[in-house]
Amino acid sequence: MYRLTLGDFELSIFSDGTYPLDGGAFFGVVPKVMWSKKVAVDERNYCTAGLNSLLIRTGTETVLVETGMGNKLSERMRKFYGQPGQLLDNLSAGGVAPEDIDIVINSHLHFDHCGWNTVRDKNGKMVPTFPRAKYYAPLGEWEYARRPSERDAISFISDNYDPLVRSGQMTLLKGGEEIVPGISVKTFPGHTAHMLGIIIAGGHDARHSQNPHFSQRQGEVGHPASSSNACYISDLIPTTAHIDLTWGMGFDLYPLQTIDSKKQYYARAISERWLTVFTHDPKIPWAYVEHDETGKMIARGVA
Ligand SMILES: [Zn+2]
Repeated sequence: MYRLTLGDFELSIFSDGTYPLDGGAFFGVVPKVMWSKKVAVDERNYCTAGLNSLLIRTGTETVLVETGMGNKLSERMRKFYGQPGQLLDNLSAGGVAPEDIDIVINSHLHFDHCGWNTVRDKNGKMVPTFPRAKYYAPLGEWEYARRPSERDAISFISDNYDPLVRSGQMTLLKGGEEIVPGISVKTFPGHTAHMLGIIIAGGHDARHSQNPHFSQRQGEVGHPASSSNACYISDLIPTTAHIDLTWGMGFDLYPLQTIDSKKQYYARAISERWLTVFTHDPKIPWAYVEHDETGKMIARGVA
């Protein structure tokens, strides 16, 4: 069980399980002789990827960031990815019922990030898994998902979001909004054009100052005052093995933007000691990214 207190907020990790992912796709242009030193690989060249959702209790709201792979994969996709599908069981084991969730935020709409947004009821109708929740996802991503490129069309399952948009239960975001006091989103292009990082400012100071959005706090860069910040950085830095600027995934649609976005993220996350949440790391769901004595970026575990 991963749980910690971040200022006034309580953060916990709930997993939807793990799934096999081709190592070449996971590490893009990085040679196998390098990435295979960091992660285990089986005889088919598959690594193990995690599906980490973040639960935030603010004191007034219960917020779920990302909903894993869900249970609506096609038979063909199940052949590749299996059917992890453990999120609801894991939430339940942690005392969280679907009705307890007030807010759901999706960083983007690939099937492994919003799969439990909806479920099919006994009549085959698509219904929200979290009936009381207000859902949020990036607008640009939703527009793209309606006419995706051939390259990543397979990554979109419209039943995960279209019924919610139609019913008005999902609000589409431009990027930069504050969802509730202390929880805001910022666009980090690279993996997709509109992927959001979810920034959590759990401390009193951070919450009562302005929206913790980069452009508004430039003067503070370099001051480690906001150590009660965290960020769900999603597929920009999917695992601790992807911390290096040039270790992007083969799935990234805009790999040069991934590098720029990582630089922008680290400029604050390292100097202000933000807790980084890694969406696909099967072993280390969160850590602090730091420079070691040689200047190399590393993940420092949570003590
Ligand atoms: Zn993705």
